[in-house]
Amino acid sequence: MSRRPLLAGNWKMYLTSGEAVRLAKAVAAISQKHVDRDVMVAPSFTSLAAVAAELKDSDVLVGAQNVAWEQEGAYTGEISPRMLTDLGVQMVIVGHSERRHIFGEDNAMVNQRLLAALDGGLVPVLCVGETLDERESSATLQTLEAQLCEGLENVTSAQAEQVVLAYEPVWAIGTGKTATPKQAQEVHHFLRQLLAGLFDKKIAEAVRVLYGGSVKPDNIDELMAQPDIDGALVGGAALNVDSFARIVHFT
Ligand code: PEP
Repeated sequence: MSRRPLLAGNWKMYLTSGEAVRLAKAVAAISQKHVDRDVMVAPSFTSLAAVAAELKDSDVLVGAQNVAWEQEGAYTGEISPRMLTDLGVQMVIVGHSERRHIFGEDNAMVNQRLLAALDGGLVPVLCVGETLDERESSATLQTLEAQLCEGLENVTSAQAEQVVLAYEPVWAIGTGKTATPKQAQEVHHFLRQLLAGLFDKKIAEAVRVLYGGSVKPDNIDELMAQPDIDGALVGGAALNVDSFARIVHFT
């Protein structure tokens, strides 16, 4: 089965609304060249409306960086799925390592957010990844299994096919250290096996698994050559149009 590559930019807490619109416009121009891959950008909440409006007639998908587990209510500081779809947002990142490690989001909370995203008509990008301590103490697979299985609890088979996974080793995010293509491939294969166990082989083959962690123009081609790597979730290199263009144009 061939999975459609997805190149996604996580703009984190960078760019004002005007800066984000300018970058979005440039990303739309570079993405136009391709019909065989998806491109997504995830600006901060304050730029979402303007970026979604800018990309309305383009092929670039718009993602949010998190989502609440209720459609509305007394949840100060949170943004609901309904508020996102109202702006034309199609995807949402959940369980990013910065949410887990800086803001204390655990697997149960990530699962609630993911279920709400699916119920609200958003495609969730579920991030999983081990810390350096976990890798060095041989706890990588155990950590990933807990993050995946608990993160996907109560997801139906019909919903599972829509989910996108992102393997982002915490030690590789924003550090300049990338997992080798071989290390990433091993984990992606393991995640696909877990999906087959949780759902079935067909779903495991259909779900896109992105790699994230210091993806750059000079390592994208090698990463994308791995059979179980279906795209990239890119932080730093997505903030510069030239480097993101090279990533989108991977060969
Ligand atoms: C990320 O934010 O998901 C990420 C992978 O960041 P970077 O590419 O900067 O390591």
